[in-house]
Amino acid sequence: MYIRVKEIPGGGLDVFATKGRASIPRILDGMNLSPLTSLLLTSAELTLSLEDGDIFAEGSFEAEGEAACDRCSDPVSARFGKSFHTVLVPRGDEPEKSDPVELRAEDLEVGYYDGKGVEVNDIFWEQVALELPVKIVCSEECKGICPMCGVNRNRESCSCEGNPKPGPFDVLKNLKGKK
Ligand SMILES: [Zn+2]
Ligand SMILES: [Zn+2]
Repeated sequence: MYIRVKEIPGGGLDVFATKGRASIPRILDGMNLSPLTSLLLTSAELTLSLEDGDIFAEGSFEAEGEAACDRCSDPVSARFGKSFHTVLVPRGDEPEKSDPVELRAEDLEVGYYDGKGVEVNDIFWEQVALELPVKIVCSEECKGICPMCGVNRNRESCSCEGNPKPGPFDVLKNLKGKK
């Protein structure tokens, strides 16, 4: 959903109240969600306001999705959300040789736009990307999959456990055996 600067009134634009909420479940379509396998926005809020040519984007989202456990590959449901407050500065208009971040309040994220308008999906993609976990485990106690026989150690125990790893002497024995 593209919002042109001219569409933003003086009092700000409540994007979903004005444009409808039907697009919310599709906002993340096409996004790289790794390590998640699926993710859907269950709620989203966004208010855009203009100040001296900068767009202030204040919003929040909640998302629900699925991932595969990093250790045992079982499906794990993921749920997260956040509130954000970003200022979008027209590209090419940024003060030279100074970091705009330093000029703003600390909790304000700074991004850029082309001076004409903003793509709402981009705003959410960026916010969601910041929240994507690096790794997901079904539980901190997950025992994972046995690297030797492949059973899920959360559900079964296997006899491989406790077997010593092959040491250097075993390798020697094998070499001798081959002669
Ligand atoms: Zn697991
Ligand atoms: Zn095993």
